Amino acid sequence: MPKFKTLDDLPADLTGEVALVRVDLNLPMKDGSATDVTRVEAVRPTILELAGRGAKVLMLAHFGRPGGQRSSMLSTSMVVGDVEEVLGEEIMFIPELTGPVVAQSVGILRSGDIGLLDNTRFWPGEEANDPNFAQAIAANGTLYVNDAFSAAHRAHATTEGLAQFLPAYAGRSMEAELKALDAALGTPQQPVAAVVGGAKVSSKLAVLEHLVGKVQHLIIGGGMANTFLAARGVNVGKSLCEHELADTVARIMDEADLAGCTVHLPYDVVVATEFAANPASLRTCNVHEVAADEMILDLGPQATEALADVLKTCRTLVWNGPLGAFETEPFDTATVALARTAAALTQDGSLISVAGGGDTVAALAQAGVTGDFTYISTAGGAFLEWMEGCVLPGVAALEA
Ligand code: ADP
Ligand code: MG
Repeated sequence: MPKFKTLDDLPADLTGEVALVRVDLNLPMKDGSATDVTRVEAVRPTILELAGRGAKVLMLAHFGRPGGQRSSMLSTSMVVGDVEEVLGEEIMFIPELTGPVVAQSVGILRSGDIGLLDNTRFWPGEEANDPNFAQAIAANGTLYVNDAFSAAHRAHATTEGLAQFLPAYAGRSMEAELKALDAALGTPQQPVAAVVGGAKVSSKLAVLEHLVGKVQHLIIGGGMANTFLAARGVNVGKSLCEHELADTVARIMDEADLAGCTVHLPYDVVVATEFAANPASLRTCNVHEVAADEMILDLGPQATEALADVLKTCRTLVWNGPLGAFETEPFDTATVALARTAAALTQDGSLISVAGGGDTVAALAQAGVTGDFTYISTAGGAFLEWMEGCVLPGVAALEA
């Protein structure tokens, strides 16, 4: 486990401290209020713990892409109501990030009070990771807590720079994410299976390259499986497929062979001639029997069964990407079935299961297993970069 400090490394009583806490409040909005407050719920424990231990808490967050200038529609004041509701506490909105207005507001806040500074991306120094800017933010705090794993793949002033000027700690949400990711690919219990699905091989090449050297079983699903099958000479008809990647796929298969990683491709699939819900042309067939006018839209029942058997022999699972076009019935069948197998194995205590990715999170929710996996990451881009084996600057700064 990489070494980083957590809130446990701080004194129990934080009276007199001013905690600058980087959070993710980039909430999806409609008509002026948030349509999903998962991100606020994720940082709630950290904010309430710091406040409860007596610190003055200043939340730092970006909101949308204002591109280095102020924009009233992208002020973090837009989310104050939603944040107050989730925290169950009043918060003071402070329409600045640095300088005397922030200093005065800190003076007004009492021990245990919570403030929210304005959109970090209003200032060009944020995305440029300008050390002078980071220092000016740091001037109004005494410690820095990063609880925004989802922004950790960016080296910005409030995700990386602040750690150079203040003692830095992982918040509870960041801590949970890092522990889960370490259990999945850092120092996992073996054998490890990785499920990689989704639309395109080209968007996940780096993920595949990294995983073949790390896991014992690489399960390929979704549109990616079509590209793998085609590269092996299978006729995939009208399926979503990147034929031009045949050489790349061959190289990945060779690397997997060398590393002792078994690559699992389906031997039966669900096909249709049109992409629609429950089409009349729906049928299941062997991968070698796909007709020229058919599309592969999901893995077949035999393949799904075989993959479930693979998971039963594994201790760890990391999953990114649905196995089929899960948004359309019945092409969610394999994804839902394998998700439920993984959930059951996790609940039995035989499997550590970690999943992430925008569509993956939606697919697992559709399967009703969100609460049954060991950990589901909602950190989109940061999760994928971690699956590629990248060092995330926001995480590295906490380890320094
Ligand atoms: P994530 O967001 O979890 O990283 P991706 O964005 O890579 O996942 O892929 C998800 C998309 O892949 C979904 O929209 C799904 O419909 C699509 N997909 C999966 N399998 C197929 C397939 N066989 N044919 C066409 N699209 C597919
Ligand atoms: Mg996606």
